[in-house]
Amino acid sequence: MRSYWLEETAATLPQGTIDGEVDVAIVGAGITGCSCALALAEAGLHVLVVDERRVAEGASGRNGGFALRGTAGAYHEVVAAHGRERALALWQWTEAELRALGGLGGDAVRRLGSLRLAVDGEEREELRDEVEALWADGLEADWIDSPTGVLAGRFTAAIRHPTDAALQPARLVRRLASRAAAAGAAFVEGHRVGALDELRADTVVVATDGYPSGLLGELEGLIVPTRGQVIATEPVTERLFELPHYGRHGFDYWHQVEDGRIVAGGFRDVSLEREFTDEEALTDDVQAALERFVTGLVGRELRVDHRWAGIFGLVLDFLPVVGPVPGLPGVWVAAGYSGHGNVLGFACGRLVAHAIVGDRDPLLDLFEPKRLLG
Ligand SMILES: Cc1cc2nc3c(=O)[nH]c(=O)nc-3n(C[C@H](O)[C@H](O)[C@H](O)COP(=O)(O)OP(=O)(O)OC[C@H]3O[C@@H](n4cnc5c(N)ncnc54)[C@H](O)[C@@H]3O)c2cc1C
Repeated sequence: MRSYWLEETAATLPQGTIDGEVDVAIVGAGITGCSCALALAEAGLHVLVVDERRVAEGASGRNGGFALRGTAGAYHEVVAAHGRERALALWQWTEAELRALGGLGGDAVRRLGSLRLAVDGEEREELRDEVEALWADGLEADWIDSPTGVLAGRFTAAIRHPTDAALQPARLVRRLASRAAAAGAAFVEGHRVGALDELRADTVVVATDGYPSGLLGELEGLIVPTRGQVIATEPVTERLFELPHYGRHGFDYWHQVEDGRIVAGGFRDVSLEREFTDEEALTDDVQAALERFVTGLVGRELRVDHRWAGIFGLVLDFLPVVGPVPGLPGVWVAAGYSGHGNVLGFACGRLVAHAIVGDRDPLLDLFEPKRLLG
């Protein structure tokens, strides 16, 4: 059940104490909490990051390793829902954050682009609508009319998004944590915050995405815990996939990592309702579907060396939930990335940090937590 990404050794971080007085306490030491801590510590604030696990051991060290621009919705759908100006601002913001992530992440971030695939005629039409909307707004994207090689015959079209990246996500988050520590942030690992009054801070940021924290008052439960499962195979000597691939509306995703392993995840739709859970467990049917899928792609059975599950937070409108928590003065939330938290978590952690130091980005209007209360 150990994530392949978490196999690397983690550096020791300076440990704080839970009752130490700080300017900002952050609950959750994933990509959101660590990017927020780094930005706040660099701005000169005293910061404490608390997690019941160790750094990156939530979804941030258990995900597929895709760093994609945009949100969980396709570009043309976001244009239809929120207007062209806002959609473009969102995409350009995530592209800029991807560049920043590349600058901070070193070899944990490989800017390879990504390949979004269609499995049938209907999905091909959707991809065509999306690529035309991207082009109309001057965003980079390449249309692939008939995918070749091992993809031929299985996929009907693809969009290559050249600005995306493949991550070693645990290495990335641990690196952000080390940078935050070097800037003065302290960490408490292995402690579950049971109530906000345990923390001696003027401001608290709850950065727990899909893991129920019990700290969000009226918002509790409105960011829906959703399970994802992943496998990593034995290393494959031939290079079959140069960049991250995903298809079937993101229900299947895979890439070949640097040591040749195929990391594949998804197939939540084998049992969609059951996968709305915060139980970090593997299930036989999803695991079997992942193995069959990889065997079909590669043309032979591969040994599976790692299997794991993680929980992400789903929001019905596919927009992050970032801002002050209604009814809890001094408490902020940054969560609900609907399976796109690698870039959005990094970016939203920084948005919150900047807002706390008085530089509020108007993008936060779109992410207002109180919209979930109806
Ligand atoms: C299987 C899977 C595949 C995914 N694939 C991708 C992908 O390829 N690309 C992508 O962009 N996104 C992907 N995601 C989503 C992405 O991983 C998450 O959205 C992102 O990592 C969230 O980061 P975070 O820092 O907000 O939260 P997390 O990394 O989940 O960290 C939250 C932390 O909060 C802690 N916590 C909760 N409550 C408390 C408490 N009361 N006290 C102390 N600690 C607490 C937890 O222990 C946890 O460590 C995937 C998610 C999963 C599960």
